[in-house]
Amino acid sequence: MKTEKIYLKYNTYEYLKKRCVALLEHCHVDDFPYYVYKVALKFADRIIPYSKLKGKPNGYAKAMAMSKDGFTLQMDDGRWRIYYNDDNNIPRCRFTLMHEVGHIWLGHNQSTEVTESSADFFARYCLVPPAIVHHFHCKNEQEIASHFWISDEAAYYAWEHYISWLNRRVADLSEPDKGLCRLLHIQTDGKKHKEGIM
Ligand SMILES: [Zn+2]
Repeated sequence: MKTEKIYLKYNTYEYLKKRCVALLEHCHVDDFPYYVYKVALKFADRIIPYSKLKGKPNGYAKAMAMSKDGFTLQMDDGRWRIYYNDDNNIPRCRFTLMHEVGHIWLGHNQSTEVTESSADFFARYCLVPPAIVHHFHCKNEQEIASHFWISDEAAYYAWEHYISWLNRRVADLSEPDKGLCRLLHIQTDGKKHKEGIM
């Protein structure tokens, strides 16, 4: 997993949130946590753990040199392959897979600080959207980590993101938040939302 090194523009974050919701809709996600592997298989022709590369000349060493977490390659026929380091624990692998799906879904064709930060934000928002943290009444990072099946490191950022979402929240939900609530069939109109039940 790569931590966010730079801040993106406000409009970029808003764009990424919309794209996250579109992806979750496209994959018919209706609960959290969900099977990231299944989502990744909708985009990648093959998902290859680094352990499969051990023993192949330069395979594993080359992969580790590319990234200690994972990377994505597009084949000549246009199909995608996602490689991920399965020595990492499952929560971290889930983040890596969603980060790589982000690169494909967002049409990134090179690795830059902006595309890496975008894929990190995308992965976190897809795995732990603040509006859904609110819905599940998570009280701290640990509850987020266990409820959403993410790493402690990702939960730290998710908690920060949730707190800032709470502070900025206005009476009307944003479009991405409304989209998320539709996915989970959460009622957002009238009293329910104002009471913070959502
Ligand atoms: Zn990346």
